[in-house]
Amino acid sequence: MTNPRPRIVVFSTGGTIASVRGDGGGAEPRLTGEELLSAVPALDTIADITAVRFRQVASQELTLADVIALAAAIDRAVAAGADATIVTQGTDTLEETAFALSLLWNGDAPAVMTGAMRNAALPGADGPANLLAAALVAASPAARGLGALVVFNDEVHLPVFVRKSHTTNPATFRSHLAGPIGWIVENRVRIALRPAARHHLGIAAPPDAVAPVALLKVTLGEDGRLLEALPERGFRGLVIEGTGGGHVPSAAVAPLARLARIMPVVLTSRTGAGELLRHTYGFPGSEIDLLRRGVIGGGMLDGPKARILLSLLLTGKADIGLIAKAFATIGSPNDGPPFIWRAEGGV
Ligand code: ASP
Repeated sequence: MTNPRPRIVVFSTGGTIASVRGDGGGAEPRLTGEELLSAVPALDTIADITAVRFRQVASQELTLADVIALAAAIDRAVAAGADATIVTQGTDTLEETAFALSLLWNGDAPAVMTGAMRNAALPGADGPANLLAAALVAASPAARGLGALVVFNDEVHLPVFVRKSHTTNPATFRSHLAGPIGWIVENRVRIALRPAARHHLGIAAPPDAVAPVALLKVTLGEDGRLLEALPERGFRGLVIEGTGGGHVPSAAVAPLARLARIMPVVLTSRTGAGELLRHTYGFPGSEIDLLRRGVIGGGMLDGPKARILLSLLLTGKADIGLIAKAFATIGSPNDGPPFIWRAEGGV
């Protein structure tokens, strides 16, 4: 970054980082972006920071349409001179919004996402420390070109790997498959690893055009009866979290195969870490069986992330061939060149 005093725009969306005790006694997202900034005077030593109130909600209220709008807002902020952006949001869905943003935002300016596990009224509130760490990373030349990042508890994570792994622990964000790519110590930012590829989906969709995709977790005795109902409920695609390396009970095979003939069906693992198998097991309902029946392998993506990718692709009107290619490259590092695609009207 050439500017000695970087300009950072903070988009606040609510979440625990912005929460204080509400009238009913429980925490509610009431603090504005300016109030978050004023709680951390040390931010002044890092950059010129301005706040934009993007949303003011708990993060399960956010939608994919919000993230598409957020990527456009980041684009405009950077075009207007921002060197980096920060997004503050609730932790519950941060792994999904961050992954979507990592696909939608393709500029060099870092887009750093953070939040808090302890709200501002609690002892040991972690929001101020996370915001400071996010600003340090956003202002760091080492973060340029990495796109969207998650900074939390003094660690830097790639959205494709990171998951919320604990209901209350401030060290909740974990990247089981690859680990964090960096850390912050005594205000120094360390980026120790860089991603193998940066993918991009150029999609600009009106909020009502986001394609609905169902996510179904396979459990003991699953017989597939929910699957039959999906088309009439308006879903345009399905992500299924199979057991282990990507398996379903034999009773669910026929309904799944029928579904795969009328909409894209992506298979992931419910384990939460590791890559989907491709050619290990051969029983009915195994990964070999399902992939042969036209189900698309999700690679290393977990269910929620595969759902984000499938929904974005369908929103951009990708055909089944392109969808399979996207999962083959975004889900499997080093298996192909970066996936770069502009949907009609996309940027
Ligand atoms: N329920 C909150 C949210 O996601 C939790 C948090 O921010 O940590 O908005």
